[in-house]
Amino acid sequence: MGRVSISKKTQNQILMESKRRCALCFGIDGNFSEKKGQIAHIDQNNENSNESNLAWLCLEHHDAFDSKTSQSKNYTKEEVVNYKKSLILKIKNLSENDQSQLRGFINKYDVFFRYIDEPIYDFRIEVEEYNEIKSAILDFSMFYFESKDVKVYLDEISNSLNRILGIYDNYDYERNQSFIHYVGEQGCRDKYKDLCTAELENIISNYNKLRELI
Ligand SMILES: [Zn+2]
Repeated sequence: MGRVSISKKTQNQILMESKRRCALCFGIDGNFSEKKGQIAHIDQNNENSNESNLAWLCLEHHDAFDSKTSQSKNYTKEEVVNYKKSLILKIKNLSENDQSQLRGFINKYDVFFRYIDEPIYDFRIEVEEYNEIKSAILDFSMFYFESKDVKVYLDEISNSLNRILGIYDNYDYERNQSFIHYVGEQGCRDKYKDLCTAELENIISNYNKLRELI
């Protein structure tokens, strides 16, 4: 078997996520500047072109990494894997603490975000669901993130959820003990549907941005 070429998509992914910073320059010397380099196969098997097996290395480090001579520094696979990981975190500007908090957030709310569109398109929401959304918004503000990006995404989500609850609070909706449902004119339904759709898209797009960070 010959060398398997790396797909354009994967190449781009490596270039974008590393921003052409060499994992070894960064990990060993703390050097975070852009480097002329190549995409290296971490397990040194050219047929394994999975994203997880690839890293951007400067020419010098790529040579040293591939070299098997006795004078070589014998950089290990583990060094490259770990430095690549810290480099990507640095580029995303996310601390270890933010990472672990974000994982906790996503574990806790993944189901919530997957089903959030149901009450919105029914023009009817259970009071219980309404309260659940309300307390989720409160709970979001208890997560403390250092990253400005994360804060912005989370604020966008909270604001959109608040605006959706605001729609259920207005006079076109009637509240009884277990439901809040639409009682307005038929013609106005589309207006609310459009509003909800826009808010929902904003929520999902920001939630996906959060997911991409881990
Ligand atoms: Zn380097």
